[in-house]
Amino acid sequence: MTAPTPHQTTCPYCGVGCGVKASLDGRTMTVKGDDTHPANQGRLCSKGTALGNTFGLEGRLLEPRIRRNGQLEHATWDEALSQVAAKFAQVVAEHGPDAVAFYVSGQLLTEDYYAVNKLAKGYIGTANVDTNSRLCMSSAVAAHKQAFGADLVPGTYDDLTEADMLVFSGHNAAWTHPVLYRRIETRQNQFRVCIDPKRTDTAKAADLHLMIRPQTDIRLWNGLCAHLIARDAIDHDFIDAHTQGFSRLMASLSADDQSIEAVAEDCGISPVDLKKFYDAFLHTPKVVSLFSMGSNQSSQGVHKGLALINAHLLSGKIGKPGAAPFSITGQPNAMGGREVGGLANMLAAHMDFDEVSKSLVQRFWDSPTIAPKAGLKAVDMFEAVRSGKIKAIWIMATNPMVSMPDTNKIHEALSNCEMVVVSDVIARTDTMNMAHIQLPAAAWGEKDGTVTNSERVISRQRNLTDLPGQVRPDWAIIAEVGRRMNTAWETAFNWAGPDEVFAEHAGLTAFENNGRRFLDLGGLSGMTKAEYDALQPVRWPFKADGLPSTRLFSDGKFNTPNGRARLVPPIVRGPANQTSPEFPFHLNSARVRDHWHTMTRTALAPELNRHLTEPLLDIHPRDARRLHIKDGRLAVVTTAYGEAILKARVTDDVREGNLSVPMHWTRQFAPFGRSNQLINPAVDPMSGQPEFKHTPATVKAY
Ligand code: SF4
Repeated sequence: MTAPTPHQTTCPYCGVGCGVKASLDGRTMTVKGDDTHPANQGRLCSKGTALGNTFGLEGRLLEPRIRRNGQLEHATWDEALSQVAAKFAQVVAEHGPDAVAFYVSGQLLTEDYYAVNKLAKGYIGTANVDTNSRLCMSSAVAAHKQAFGADLVPGTYDDLTEADMLVFSGHNAAWTHPVLYRRIETRQNQFRVCIDPKRTDTAKAADLHLMIRPQTDIRLWNGLCAHLIARDAIDHDFIDAHTQGFSRLMASLSADDQSIEAVAEDCGISPVDLKKFYDAFLHTPKVVSLFSMGSNQSSQGVHKGLALINAHLLSGKIGKPGAAPFSITGQPNAMGGREVGGLANMLAAHMDFDEVSKSLVQRFWDSPTIAPKAGLKAVDMFEAVRSGKIKAIWIMATNPMVSMPDTNKIHEALSNCEMVVVSDVIARTDTMNMAHIQLPAAAWGEKDGTVTNSERVISRQRNLTDLPGQVRPDWAIIAEVGRRMNTAWETAFNWAGPDEVFAEHAGLTAFENNGRRFLDLGGLSGMTKAEYDALQPVRWPFKADGLPSTRLFSDGKFNTPNGRARLVPPIVRGPANQTSPEFPFHLNSARVRDHWHTMTRTALAPELNRHLTEPLLDIHPRDARRLHIKDGRLAVVTTAYGEAILKARVTDDVREGNLSVPMHWTRQFAPFGRSNQLINPAVDPMSGQPEFKHTPATVKAY
């Protein structure tokens, strides 16, 4: 008997984007890391290794369903798609395009994302398309756009081992991006600093842990910038030739006391440790600063990113081997979604809603309309559903009933909505349960397309088996609804396969580009289906006349109109909601090592449930003693938004006055321990990213 042939594909979990070799025998799958993939070079973490154990059909939605008289009943695709198309068309006709919305996901493939953006922005005429990536990295996107002129990640994973110093700023890489972390660990003699109010595994392994007060990151990074200036350790040539805004930044920094003692006091850390960090940054030419959810999920997330980027621009530590500010994404395809305009405030191919871009995209799409302005970002979108402004919403591949902040409001919103369409792979999720129409989507291993990881590498996710039951790929479902909404749209949504969608997306990135935008996939736009099927990982930009790129900005040119990076003064503000006598604790929420999002897939693998069998509330020993909360006993956490009951873990891994809860557990797995019903819906005013890392709370023994 011959062994099944392994297929090259990509892990569907995090933004590391590891290559996987998967062999299939029926629906029995064996996986191993793809040693030819540049991201992981053969490694996989616990989640990737367990992929085979999550590939069964248990719990799958395999047929369309329509709610009739309160009950979900089997329906044909024809019935389901006709109802979706008719309702969306009716709402648009009666209330205008902005009365419909699409809430999508970093789990979608780039082709799916492209299709929904084209339908909404170019044909329906609304930019109400937002993604759960809003919750993950939209602050980094906004910081990139301000500093570099476009959403551009400068470095590559090779820079992480090339660097002599790594800074993890709000990034528990050991748990959230494990393969990347393993790769980093292969590098000897590298000074590692972790900036985090929690003593995470990454912090424990670091040479220096700055256990700062929550939300004092900007103060810390501004202090570093001031330190570099005061020591004349800035790169004058780089600043003069490649940046703008230096005087404004200087003036802004000088408004605060930037002495080591004052900054350390405000951040709640030792001045000796702070000076050690500042001096190490100052004396080490090759530094990479990684930032992730701990930095982004804040009402000041954009300015946190800008403060970190400023330190790199001032010292010229960018565009060189081993030197970069580096945003690491959570979702497997947060980057691909951004590339096609998956955020409500982006049009397509990294373009904004300016007149030139709108005209360009509309002409490329040959579309009847174009969304005139940015749409509603995730929190505002669901608020508009709750208030009745949005009357029909289509949720794809995500579970906002668990993953959004203030989930009681999401329940209210979906309960009041005239039509909730959910396309997903799992039959019973908290969000699926709210649907009027359920559409069965193809899962990982069944769908076919591309994803982009955190270092701008595009890889193929491949279908390894026939589609089970009646499931369909997301892009095909979206295209069919487009065709049914208006027969005149037939040609625009008539793709024969994902290769044609990708070719169109690549063509749009290159259309009338002339070097205006760094995002250029012209080198991939003429691909045949055979070439698409055989596509190996490739990093963009990849122009028609060039080679795939490596790191960006090595020539000192940025994507701003004058080619200079912007030094933007970051403002030190507190969190949106302050602690009070009623809610005296800072409540933080976080991911755990072996679960992904709302556990719809990872909970299927027994080995992934063993790491942490239930959600635990981390509380400092002094707080626990004072409140008579015992380790392993239940505690009640209350905020202005909701209440949860969780088992306490008494640990000095959190600061006194701080609490931490994991974000994954659903009603099915922890009926009383769902954390996001506690989380405040405050957002960063620029990025719209919610402040998951700080909600005022109180706690008592159960
Ligand atoms: Fe998958 Fe991320 Fe683990 Fe790689 S590090 S195997 S992409 S979950």
